[in-house]
Amino acid sequence: MAPIRMIDIAVNFTDGMFKGIYNGKQHHVSDIATVLSRAWNAGVDRIIVTGGSLEESKEALAIAETDGRLFCTVGVHPTRCKEFEESGDPEKHFQGLLALAKEGIQKGKVVAIGECGLDYDRLHFCPPEVQKKYFEKQFELAYATKLPMFLHMRAAAEDFCEIMERNINKFTGGVTHSFTGSAEDRDKLLSFHNMYIGENATYTCHLHLTCLVAMHAVIWHLLATLYLPTIVFLFRR
Ligand SMILES: [Zn+2]
Repeated sequence: MAPIRMIDIAVNFTDGMFKGIYNGKQHHVSDIATVLSRAWNAGVDRIIVTGGSLEESKEALAIAETDGRLFCTVGVHPTRCKEFEESGDPEKHFQGLLALAKEGIQKGKVVAIGECGLDYDRLHFCPPEVQKKYFEKQFELAYATKLPMFLHMRAAAEDFCEIMERNINKFTGGVTHSFTGSAEDRDKLLSFHNMYIGENATYTCHLHLTCLVAMHAVIWHLLATLYLPTIVFLFRR
């Protein structure tokens, strides 16, 4: 039997904390190298660095290029979707993401589109209409690149599944993380071909009902929650 490969599919290395910056203040030098060395020593085989905006996706690609075991995503997080309009030219912004994704695929580094989706728990960062518009727009990235999607869904199951359904022919599958929904939402999500769920840890910690729902999902999709099929999925290309 082949050894189990451990792959972390969502590491936020572009977060300032990895550069030692907390609440805008520098507290220590960048410690990505130390974090990585601990991960490799613990048996992690591959890491996918998350891109959450155009700039962050560029940074994620630059980080991924520093080590053969690092890969990354390209996309805009729901709480950052205002950046499309704030750029002054949403279509040009989209084209920037597409060009970056293509460049990263060429380099063998970009393995998924994301993270993108809907987050109605944090509307103060971005209103729902803007989130919905640019979540839907990013299916075009998945369609153009044929990459799977790394999705974020928090307190937004109905709109999320509706948008997914409308775009069902544009994506090949992926992982929906930050799941906080009901058993019905879970079943709806898992009815999409090649779709897996990762639950929201904050909710789980509070022993929210979501925990039970997600645990049910774990029973049926254990490997999905452990991200293993995603790994196979992302790396079988
Ligand atoms: Zn997320």
